[in-house]
Amino acid sequence: MKNKVQACLTKDDIVDSLKNVGVNPTAQRIAICQFVLCQGDHPTADEIKTWVDQHFPKLSLATIYNTLKTLTDAGVLREYKFPHSGKSFYDNNLVDHYHLLDEESGKLIDIDSKSINVSKGFLKEFTVNKMDVIFYGKHKSQVDG
Ligand SMILES: [Zn+2]
Repeated sequence: MKNKVQACLTKDDIVDSLKNVGVNPTAQRIAICQFVLCQGDHPTADEIKTWVDQHFPKLSLATIYNTLKTLTDAGVLREYKFPHSGKSFYDNNLVDHYHLLDEESGKLIDIDSKSINVSKGFLKEFTVNKMDVIFYGKHKSQVDG
């Protein structure tokens, strides 16, 4: 089940958003954006590579990583690393949110940050630039007995 705040973007929207952040909208960048923004659900670089291989068979994994880094640095995508996996996950949901790892399917599910109360007392002491929260579990409809 997807819970994306951001809707799927058209190719023109992607070209515009890349230009807005000063990234040259090459065909492979547009394609990778379209996959992560529209079809992928928190894909890993390997999953992106599998998809790219079907559409742009000449792109190397290094090019894909470089493209993902460019897109992440530009703020078009977010990269997450979580303790359950050594892999990076790429996320098109640029609104602050948390994740639940479905331990049965291995899928990451977006959790609206507004649905979770975090005590902000520590903010008196620290400046926080980014916050990642991950929950582990499964959807209640899948719990047996
Ligand atoms: Zn997410």
